[in-house]
Amino acid sequence: MTIEQKLSILTDSAKYDVSCSSSGSVRTLDFGGVGSVGNGGICHAYSADGRCISLLKILLTNYCLYDCAYCVNRISNDIRRAAFTPEEVAELTINFYRRNMIEGLFLSSGIITSEDHTMRLILKTLQLLRHSYGFNGYVHVKLIPGASEELIIQTAALADRVSSNIELPSSASLALLAPDKTREKVLQPLTMAKNYSLEHQKRPIGMSTQLIIGATPENDLDILRLSSSLYDKAMLKRVYYSAYIPINNTKNLPALTTPPPLLREHRLYQADWLIRFYGFGFEEILNEETPYLDERFDPKLSWALRNLHLFPIEINTAEREILLRIPGLGVRGVNKILKARRFRALNVYDLETMKISLKRLRYFVTVRGKLLVDHSLDYQQIQTELLLLPKPSPAAQPTLFDHFYPTVMGEL
Ligand code: SF4
Repeated sequence: MTIEQKLSILTDSAKYDVSCSSSGSVRTLDFGGVGSVGNGGICHAYSADGRCISLLKILLTNYCLYDCAYCVNRISNDIRRAAFTPEEVAELTINFYRRNMIEGLFLSSGIITSEDHTMRLILKTLQLLRHSYGFNGYVHVKLIPGASEELIIQTAALADRVSSNIELPSSASLALLAPDKTREKVLQPLTMAKNYSLEHQKRPIGMSTQLIIGATPENDLDILRLSSSLYDKAMLKRVYYSAYIPINNTKNLPALTTPPPLLREHRLYQADWLIRFYGFGFEEILNEETPYLDERFDPKLSWALRNLHLFPIEINTAEREILLRIPGLGVRGVNKILKARRFRALNVYDLETMKISLKRLRYFVTVRGKLLVDHSLDYQQIQTELLLLPKPSPAAQPTLFDHFYPTVMGEL
């Protein structure tokens, strides 16, 4: 099999892993146009300093001893298989890098021969890149659950980011759909990497995992509770949510005709953002009575509607952490307000000048002590008015100059 054929199989097999973000769309080059998009191969991720970097995203092999019900590469599927050698991956990475096509590598793998054997192949690839080629670019690798501590630590020490995918939010679901895995087994390599970096006071190793949404019955509260504990206790940097895409026809999974729950995935990312950057606890966002995120409103707006007694909030005097809880105000908006109000009390015109949209904000604030709406409005009335607001088409591309385009992640 040629390198091109392997590359085609092993980039395609890696496309369902979202712990390294990828566009997932396919577009061919139009005559007279510029650029095209493939759903596998080169993806984009964000480095610690916020830069967007392009990565070669591949599997070392799509052979796998495991039989995870949701996975295209499981042993019981009849698919085209291929395997790279560490030398081939290292050479491909360097060649793509020298041609300026990528800035780094995302390398995952099926389990071939044994967990230790697979981890050894990944480690060898990293050693070749770092030591033989002197490659200093970004490398994200999958740690193999069940591999020995020595191999895990050596691998983590050479990588910028490591991940190990929990995939299913409960032990019962893992037992049902991924019988070769347990939560402990999947988390163990991350714990080993974390302990190593803490004990040896090395640079912190970025760690992430992925959860599949909608393949099993766990609710959003279960998922956010798990994510919170992964951030707090396991010190993970990111939890990625992947709407379940039916690939295999298996009785324990939703039918192949089920559409991926993309809006649910989006709401979970927004809630996750509130937990990591806006000071919310998961139990404020959801509880046993309301275990699912409202698909009509973003999670901060839903929280505010359930807690109208905490509003209105005065824009000119509220502390930063209180301002961050106001729907329609993101981190950038709060920073602008804090900076501007050092000089004088702000008015509505000032907010508009700062490009802060009043569409949602106006229900929840006072400006110089004045209400912006009639505050005898109740929960139902505000909901109705908010639902009547024009919605952007989900497919719409924001223009460079459209400051009203809502809820990019940082502007909840
Ligand atoms: S171990 Fe990974 S590659 Fe193998 S079947 Fe499970 S999810 Fe797929």
